[in-house]
Parts: sequence; structure tokens; C-alpha cells
Amino acid sequence: MNLETVSRMEQKLLVPTYDRQPMLLERGNGVYVWDSTGKKYLDFLSGLGVNALGHNHPAIQKVIRKQAAKLIHTCNIFYHEYQAELAARLTKMSGLDRAFFSNSGTEAWDGALKLARAFAQMEAKSGRPKTRILAMENSFHGRTYGAMSTTGQKKYRDPFAPMVPGVKFVKFNDIDDLEKKFDSTVCAVCIETIQGEGGIQPVAREFLERARRLTGKSSALLILDEIQCGLGRTGKHFAYQHYGVLPDMVTVAKPLAAGLPLGAILATERVAACMKPGLHGTTFGGGPLACAVAIEFLRQEEKLLKHVVEVGKYFEDALEALDAKHSSIQDVRGAGLMRAVELDSADLAKAVLVRTREAGIIINRTHEKVLRFLPPFIIQKKHIDLLVKELDRALSAGMAATESITKIAQVSAQKTRANLGHIRAHKNAAAKPKAGLITAPAAAVLPRTSKAQPAETKEKEEEYAYA
Ligand code: PLP
Repeated sequence: MNLETVSRMEQKLLVPTYDRQPMLLERGNGVYVWDSTGKKYLDFLSGLGVNALGHNHPAIQKVIRKQAAKLIHTCNIFYHEYQAELAARLTKMSGLDRAFFSNSGTEAWDGALKLARAFAQMEAKSGRPKTRILAMENSFHGRTYGAMSTTGQKKYRDPFAPMVPGVKFVKFNDIDDLEKKFDSTVCAVCIETIQGEGGIQPVAREFLERARRLTGKSSALLILDEIQCGLGRTGKHFAYQHYGVLPDMVTVAKPLAAGLPLGAILATERVAACMKPGLHGTTFGGGPLACAVAIEFLRQEEKLLKHVVEVGKYFEDALEALDAKHSSIQDVRGAGLMRAVELDSADLAKAVLVRTREAGIIINRTHEKVLRFLPPFIIQKKHIDLLVKELDRALSAGMAATESITKIAQVSAQKTRANLGHIRAHKNAAAKPKAGLITAPAAAVLPRTSKAQPAETKEKEEEYAYA
């Protein structure tokens, strides 16, 4: 079947949840993927951060073949040989004590929220348990109800209201707001160490440290979501290891089983003690095939960390040079191989995306005007050069187009002039951090101070009363 046939059938047959790029992908190898016309693409997105080892890694293929011939599924009523070994590796890497395996990121996150409430009940004994959860504005934790309810963006929540009760949102990296909203009724503070979907926004060191101190003092939990930024993407096993802060729980998923569905909650012994058999579970999660592959992924990840740091720095320098050249770039930020370029208009970002695709490079756009790069860990400097050269071309072409539009706009509608004025004003405003808002990076490897702040969510503080 060709692209036209598949897309026509999908339009008729699928629940319309995706706005796909016009590419029918057929095969991959390393950092490349090919579509049905034979066109080759350099993959700077790796299936939204999943294919961290690139496509068809020989060691992964070998494990899949071997394990698929032995045992694919058991369900969690029985033992198989890989969950314990995988848990041993993940707990050693993370500094935490116990693991629970799920199928996806959102399930891992929902499970972590359940553990937080169960832990609070255990701690309260017969008293009134803490139930409130503080989550961050501009965050993203997934599509199930717990994850959605703690996602700090109205567009993901409102169509599905009402949400899980007891969640309040804190302005990301705003210590005053955190302190104002934190009290003895809070059972958990939830943070993505680097907000991914939110435009690659790292948590500030002071903010994370304060969250750790507040939760530690009141027996509340600090839960970090490293589904996108964890497992080697920043050059360390976990992004929180750049900060020297240990959470009570962390969630991981995306690259864990190199393309097979697998997520995990990692928790301290103290937190895990709130669970007993039957309280939480899954039919598929942590099956032998996915776990065997994940063990191999972690072996490979360990070997690639140094490379991620080195090419990550090269990538950072290249993007900074691009920033110096193009006034349409508002900000470049990120860590390791998780990077973003924020442009001054959504139209330009859209144009850059199309142009890079035509040139045979896959990237992604988030928050309208942020170009996001999540390449496989095996990417090399020469691939980064190719991407940056293409971005340079696309931005130059895009700027020329934007300038001509601006000229037309200047002699046409008043409304159009006002909009362009807003874009310029935004750039000026973004250069000045708001009082009380921490923008400083966590450590040398983490991004420089952001020029732009997370996009204003414009949402009012929101709390759903605990029923
Ligand atoms: N948390 C973060 C930080 C994510 O980036 C994502 C997915 O993009 C999720 C949770 C949800 O993961 P999944 O799509 O595997 O359910």
C-alpha cells in the first residue's frame, strides 16, 4: 500500500487522534529511516525519544530474536528471569531501591501517583491522610487520568474534565509560588526534571532543592518524571544526577526497551512499603521479551554516556553559533541530546519543519514555535553538522519569506500589524526574567540561562476539591 491509500483508509477508519506527517515509514538502520518512496531521512527525533540506540540495533535484534523464540509473555502471576535483573540494574543506576514495571510512560506516572496516595495513607495510620498533589505548570505527564490531571496545560485536560481531584499547579521554577502552595496536606510534589513536551525547560537547581527540602521535612514525596529526559539522554543515567538531588520516586519509559513498550516506577524502600499484592498491577507490563531487551538497552546505554556528553556539547555549541547568526531564534536550550531551538513565530517553525523534512531530516515542533531534537545516542558530529546546515538554510529562507510578509502586512490590515508588533514585544519581554522566577541552570552540563520563559499557560490556579 502506498501513502495515499494508507492515509485515506486511516482517515476513514481510525479515531482521529493524530495529525501525521505525510511519510509512510518502511525501514530503518542506525540514525536513518526510509519511507515507501525510498527517500532516506536522518532521524533527529528517534520516535519521540524511544529509539535511543537508533533503528535495528544489532544487539537488540539479537535479543528479540532469541527471546521471541523462547517466551514472549507470562503475565505477572508467574516469575520469569528478567524482571529481577532489570530491577537490579535500574535501582543501582538510580540510587533507589525497588521497581514496578508498566507498559508505558503514562501508566508508570499514574502508578507513581497511586503509590504517593497509598504512602500518605500508610503514614497517616488512622489519622487524616495527606491527599493534595502539587504539579507544575507547563508540564506533561501523559494521557491517562492521573497523568492528565497533573499535566499543567489546560489544552490536554479541559476536553476530558472533570479531572482527578486534589491537584494544584505551581508556576514552574517559581520558589515563592511553591512555598505558598505547599503545606502539610501535600502528599507529593511532581516535577519533570527537564520539561520535554513543554519545550525542553530544565528545572532550576534552587527550585528542585527547595522542593526536596519541603517534601523531606513534611514526609511528602518528591516524584520526578524522567520518561523523556532519563536513561542517558542528558549524558547521565538520570537528569537529577546533574543536580545531586535524590527523589523518592522516578518514572522512566520511552527508550527503556528500545522500541518495545515498557515503563518503570523506581521508588525508595520506604515508599514501596505502602504496597502489598493486589493493590496495583498490569497484565502486560514487565513481560519477558520487553525486560530482556531492556537489560540489553541498559548495557548499551552505559557504553554511550560519554559519547552523549561529547556530541551533546558539540550540538550545544553548534546551536549557539546558529543563535548568534539568526535574530529569529529566541532561545536555544537543553542538555546532552535533548535540545530545543525556540523561534519567534509558529509559521517560521512550521516552515523550518517542512524544509528540513524535504531535505531528508526528521525533527519535531512543540509549543508551536519550539523545534525539538531528540536524536539517537549514536548520532555523530557529522550528522549534527548536516542538521545545523539545514536549519541555517531553512531559517535564512524562512526569514526572507517572513520579511516579505512583513512588508505586505505593513501596508495592509491594522490587525496584522498589531500581531507582528506583539511578536517583537514578546522577544524584548522574554529577555528579562520575571522577578522571583529562577532561570539559572543546574550544573555545567545543563543548559545556560534561558532567554525565554516557559510559554505562559494563562491558566488560573486550579484545584479540584477532594471528594
Ligand atoms: N511523561 C513525559 C515527560 C513524557 O514526555 C511522556 C510522553 O511523551 C509521558 C510522560 C507519557 O509517556 P507515554 O506516551 O509512554 O504514555
